[in-house]
Amino acid sequence: MSRRKIVAGNWKMNLDRAKAKELTAAVAARIAEAGSTELVLCPPAAYLETVGAALHAAASAVALGGQNMHDKPSGAFTGEVAPPMLLDLGCRYVILGHSERRTLFGETDPRVNAKAKAALAAGLTPIVCVGETLEEREGGRTEEVVTTQVRGSLAGLLPAELEKVVVAYEPVWAIGTGKVATPQQAQEVHALIRSLLGSLASPAVAAKVRIQYGGSVKPDNAADLAAQPDIDGALVGGASLKADDFLGIAKAFGG
Ligand code: PEP
Repeated sequence: MSRRKIVAGNWKMNLDRAKAKELTAAVAARIAEAGSTELVLCPPAAYLETVGAALHAAASAVALGGQNMHDKPSGAFTGEVAPPMLLDLGCRYVILGHSERRTLFGETDPRVNAKAKAALAAGLTPIVCVGETLEEREGGRTEEVVTTQVRGSLAGLLPAELEKVVVAYEPVWAIGTGKVATPQQAQEVHALIRSLLGSLASPAVAAKVRIQYGGSVKPDNAADLAAQPDIDGALVGGASLKADDFLGIAKAFGG
């Protein structure tokens, strides 16, 4: 089963408007370096319009994504962004359940599940993040934690919905720490996630789902990760803020 590789940049709460424009233009101008790899930029919500306009101006195939959203289409939810608003701004993707949302903002699996359903209903592709903490890994609980998160976050999705979802395996201990999971550690969990998707839908559906690895991915460690059979791309934080690094990673995944 060949799955198109997907590399997404999670800019988190970084850059200013001028730098966001500059980085977008640089990535758009060099998209050929990514080869067949699909690229997604996920700027802060405040800059979605700016980045979307820069991509539009460059007639770029680079996709736009949000970093979070509410699960309701509108209403009295001060400070939140609704799924149709992301769509309106040109987003095709939205990151959901990032570990920073889970640990710093109290997002639970049921909440991520509600958001995943809302994203799909709005026509957005959710990038659903899961991953264990260092304590959980050292306590031998990786499989249990990831299983609970995958089952909880994707509960009740129809097979036709599930096959559209992107899952990002991001061990919390590897995010922003410079400590990347070994390709074997990552592959082991990716294979577990694919088998869980098989039990939620069917092996045929599971074979279509793209599973990204995230956690200190850099151009110099991306090729070994990309060589694993169940690693279909990367969700990139720090290294997505530099065009050279982001494109270097994309290239390793199939440029
Ligand atoms: C992330 O936040 O999704 C991430 C993987 O960050 P970093 O690449 O900086 O570890």
